[in-house]
Amino acid sequence: MQCSQCHANAVLKLPNSAVSLCRKHFNIYFEKKVRKTIRVYHMIGKQDKVGVAISGGKDSMTLLYVLNNLFKRTKVKLIALAIDEGIKGYRDPEFRFVNEFCKKLDIELKTYSYKKEFGKTLDEITEKDKETIPCTYCGVFRRKILNEKALELGVNKLATGHNLDDESQAILMNQFRKNVRASAIMGPVTGVVDDPKFVRRIKPLYFLTEKEVATFAFLNGILDKFVECPNAELGYRASVRDMLNDFDERYPGTKYNIVSSFLAMLPALKSQQPKEKIKSCSLCGAASSKDVCQACVLLNRVNTFFVHH
Ligand code: SF4
Ligand code: ZN
Repeated sequence: MQCSQCHANAVLKLPNSAVSLCRKHFNIYFEKKVRKTIRVYHMIGKQDKVGVAISGGKDSMTLLYVLNNLFKRTKVKLIALAIDEGIKGYRDPEFRFVNEFCKKLDIELKTYSYKKEFGKTLDEITEKDKETIPCTYCGVFRRKILNEKALELGVNKLATGHNLDDESQAILMNQFRKNVRASAIMGPVTGVVDDPKFVRRIKPLYFLTEKEVATFAFLNGILDKFVECPNAELGYRASVRDMLNDFDERYPGTKYNIVSSFLAMLPALKSQQPKEKIKSCSLCGAASSKDVCQACVLLNRVNTFFVHH
């Protein structure tokens, strides 16, 4: 397989096209696509302070690496935020790898943990609560910490490593579960409610597939210590992912088509949603659409498991 641009050996055939690219041209293609996503969706402004949520996985590390390439010579500030969920065998509580990586890029790293913020590790919680899948807690808790810390740090954009695969899975999940409201707040830029208590979230890798991100990570030496969370195999998302991978294999372009038809419908979807008033959670004060935020609802649930009789 030859590169369509220079005839060197190609490393990847682009999804949904006849183009194959060598290492050099693939890197150029990749960064260009990220830059275009950022521009088209007005993700990052000249004076922004961007918090990059990094998990130590290939998506978020790639995101940090590319954003650093794109913005290191500008006024845009990058800061990395990492969270220790407290998952045995997955998260290194000392963030050695993440630390090293940020040092190499000369980017400040802030670390947080569920234990410190909520009093329990995710493992401690899911050990007691066998009915709820870990990701339910994890997603809500992570969002809460990221939003709170971003506000404290003066971060006005939060970038996450979500890719096309993640997004197409989430779109299908919402469809399958008739979760229209959740769909209406998705997209490349979320949290667009103009409220000073919500930090806007951006997904610069939105139009790149998992495979493209993995290839980029591998080619640029980002991949070495990546392990997957043991909980990733549980639950609904894993089933949707497997089905979608199988389908995309047989009908290439499926994931991309799911995302682009979703984006075509999104404005209509948004406009038919009732405008929500943003309130303050009566327990923690965080911005919430309900009287008590989802994190506090879950924390209350956690407490019921830890009451001693
Ligand atoms: Fe948390 Fe689930 Fe992701 Fe593991 S797979 S880090 S439990 S959200
Ligand atoms: Zn709350």
